Amino acid sequence: MCGVFGAYSKNDYVAEEVYLGLLALQHRGQESAGVAWIDSFGRVNAVKGMGLVYEALDQKVLSKTTVTAAIGHVRYSTAGGSMLQNAQPICANYAQGPVAIAHNGNLTNLDDLRTSLEARGAIFQSTSDTEAILHLVAHQTEKSPLEALLYALDQTRGAFSLVVLLEEGLVAARDPWGFRPLALGKRGDNYYVASESCAFSLIGATLVRDIEPGEVLLINEKGLTSFHLTTESGRGWLCSFEFVYFARPDSVIEGRSVYRARQEMGRRLAMGIGGEGCFSEMNASDADFVAYLPDSGTTAAIGYAEGSGLPFEAAVVRNRYVGRTFIQPTQRVRELGVRIKLSPSEAIFSGKSAILVDDSLVRGTTAGLVVAMIRECDARALHLRISSPPVRYPCYYGIDTPSRGELVAAQHSLEEIASSVGADSLYYLGKEGMIDAIGLPGNSLCTACFDGLYLDERDRESVCGFHNSQILRAENLT
Ligand code: 5GP
Ligand code: SF4
Ligand code: MG
Repeated sequence: MCGVFGAYSKNDYVAEEVYLGLLALQHRGQESAGVAWIDSFGRVNAVKGMGLVYEALDQKVLSKTTVTAAIGHVRYSTAGGSMLQNAQPICANYAQGPVAIAHNGNLTNLDDLRTSLEARGAIFQSTSDTEAILHLVAHQTEKSPLEALLYALDQTRGAFSLVVLLEEGLVAARDPWGFRPLALGKRGDNYYVASESCAFSLIGATLVRDIEPGEVLLINEKGLTSFHLTTESGRGWLCSFEFVYFARPDSVIEGRSVYRARQEMGRRLAMGIGGEGCFSEMNASDADFVAYLPDSGTTAAIGYAEGSGLPFEAAVVRNRYVGRTFIQPTQRVRELGVRIKLSPSEAIFSGKSAILVDDSLVRGTTAGLVVAMIRECDARALHLRISSPPVRYPCYYGIDTPSRGELVAAQHSLEEIASSVGADSLYYLGKEGMIDAIGLPGNSLCTACFDGLYLDERDRESVCGFHNSQILRAENLT
């Protein structure tokens, strides 16, 4: 998972606004950040660094960078390649001019692309799929950079929401399936492109519309020019997990408020609509209140309280000075990280029966640890409610969900999960309930991590372990 941001102006210097846009997209990636632009000599330049935006980049330097178009990227920490050379935007000056690319998503035909590019002499510097797009562009020397980009994107499969800088201008592009969000914003004559609309508010811009699946939008002194990729998608594949967890609640995607979608997920969960669950002899009818796992479970818990008529208590406190970066990928540190980050309030839980709402169970680590901590507070009963369906399959479209072996719902029955996390009952929202809460047609959403229905059968093969290179890539998702 990553975040991308682009800015184009006829008059204003925009590098600092890209920095601010990245700050608003920080939740989409905390491993590294970068900003790129084309200088007055027509060469691409970039600043990149490891860590959070404010650690990786120097706002003062960017505020003095006199460019009217720039792009930026925040990268999500993954199990493998957490290093500066993987930081984006990736940049090159090739025969036809400068190019800088910032990518959110994951291409699923990287092996094929790589094989054919290497056969033509390409030398890859990294394992990144974004580099394949760059090579595809650079190999089309008879075409203009924009034509080369259109050609390159037509060769790809899988997920990409891109912002690209070319001599022709700023380009926003979204794969034909529309896996990852990408939005267009405006302030005066300035245009902005961002992974999520929440980035527009910070710079006083407003959301114009989403970039359409398969659309390649050129923004330059002539205004906006829209191109379309030739691949027919048949249906939409917008990531439903964006609504569950990834996107910020103040973002609007495809006209749907992420906050409202999450709230509705919680409400439907409370009403038990179409979900799956398991209950011990204790059921949730004895519950005194609804608590949540901050911050990701907050909005769904608000909806759950509404749907159940129970009071809402902020009974688990989050240490706001400990960020996600603190939690490194190893399981041991992850466990300690959860303890440092979240703390249940004994005064609220003691002697009470509580409903605990979180947005998702992936490995089951967070919920298990928090339930154990709440038990230490002498809670009478604890009912875990998850406002999305069980995650049973890995994602190959740009999110670092672990392999099936680590996904608790892929390995265990609901009874086993409830007992391993120590909950008296466990209930998940069903897929239909989630789709209805999102409020978009089911055939416009990707739900593959819940139901295993991938865009391509070959993506599914990799889940079963037959396609080793894809598994390798799944561990290095961007
Ligand atoms: P678990 O501890 O079960 O592995 O992860 C579930 C928790 O992590 C939930 O509270 C959810 O908000 C959050 N979560 C869900 N998906 C992801 C993900 O892909 N990456 C990270 N870092 N957290 C996630
Ligand atoms: Fe989103 Fe899940 Fe589809 Fe990945 S598999 S794009 S996380 S819905
Ligand atoms: Mg969480």
